[in-house]
Amino acid sequence: MDARRLAYLRALGIDVWRRRAPAGGLAAVPDAQGAAVPAVALARGPASEPAAGVSREPTAVSPVEPPRESATAPSGASAGAPDLRATASVATPSRPAVPDERPAGSTAPASAGPVAAHAGPSDHPPAGRLPDPAHPAARLDWAGLEEAVRRCTACPLHATRTNPVFGVGNRQADWMIIGEAPGGDEDRQGEPFVGRAGQLLTSMLRAIGLAREQVFIANILKSRPPHNRDPRPEEVQACLPYLFRQIELVNPRIILCVGRIAAQTLLETNLPIGKLRGRLHRLATGRPMIVTYHPAYLLRSPIEKRKAWQDLLLALQTLEEADQAGAQP
Ligand code: SF4
Repeated sequence: MDARRLAYLRALGIDVWRRRAPAGGLAAVPDAQGAAVPAVALARGPASEPAAGVSREPTAVSPVEPPRESATAPSGASAGAPDLRATASVATPSRPAVPDERPAGSTAPASAGPVAAHAGPSDHPPAGRLPDPAHPAARLDWAGLEEAVRRCTACPLHATRTNPVFGVGNRQADWMIIGEAPGGDEDRQGEPFVGRAGQLLTSMLRAIGLAREQVFIANILKSRPPHNRDPRPEEVQACLPYLFRQIELVNPRIILCVGRIAAQTLLETNLPIGKLRGRLHRLATGRPMIVTYHPAYLLRSPIEKRKAWQDLLLALQTLEEADQAGAQP
């Protein structure tokens, strides 16, 4: 395992057992390719895949993606949770010439390293709905859109939120991160992905050479559902135009969709996240999207960080291949 990949795995909080000489005491622990493997993968059995349609009420201890609140304000959940904040350095990326006009310095590292053989093909037809050009949000600029979200009463969630959570980050980013909905900390602070889940997301981004400030982060819903329940269809229907407009304005080269609900919503499918991650999707607009686990889920199921790492590599590979072809992904 090369030093670069080792650093990435450590940045994701995955301890790596390194192969020793036969007389070295600790037995070698090769994976199928003969490389060292993350220790966490050996310490636990396989986690069950998050399933569609499973309730995420805050009091439930669920084997699927946990409530947002449980990750941002854990009680006893820190045991075994990795400290992901100090190990990775943010690479200064080199950006091959591509036909867009965004500033340099906001794309992926020069080399992503190998992507797992299971990384899927990109021949899936575009999925999900197209933005409605007749919706008022479709014509707004950033200032107008932010104000529209701040004043929005299009669904009942406006009555229970503390703050709208519009989104944050580089509005000309190459990468856009899309999650599900604000949790408790996000509702209080008005910013997506704060708390422990947000810290892990930041570490995941750093592991692939991206500072949080380089990407744009948003959610499907801009207001917190009470008790972190799943978004309801009518809430998604009311709020999606804002996200679609954000995507148009940012015009990211790739979307990283985190979590089952966000993925199922954007792709309009009921497939479990285990079948959605690990492959390249395209939204109805043709924009490429990679699905991976929500950081809140990864805090509860650290064994899945290895798969999340593969998803990040797949996203990097998608951009690299487009760069080499001199085209958009
Ligand atoms: S969730 Fe979206 S549609 Fe509902 S009130 Fe908030 S901003 Fe408006």
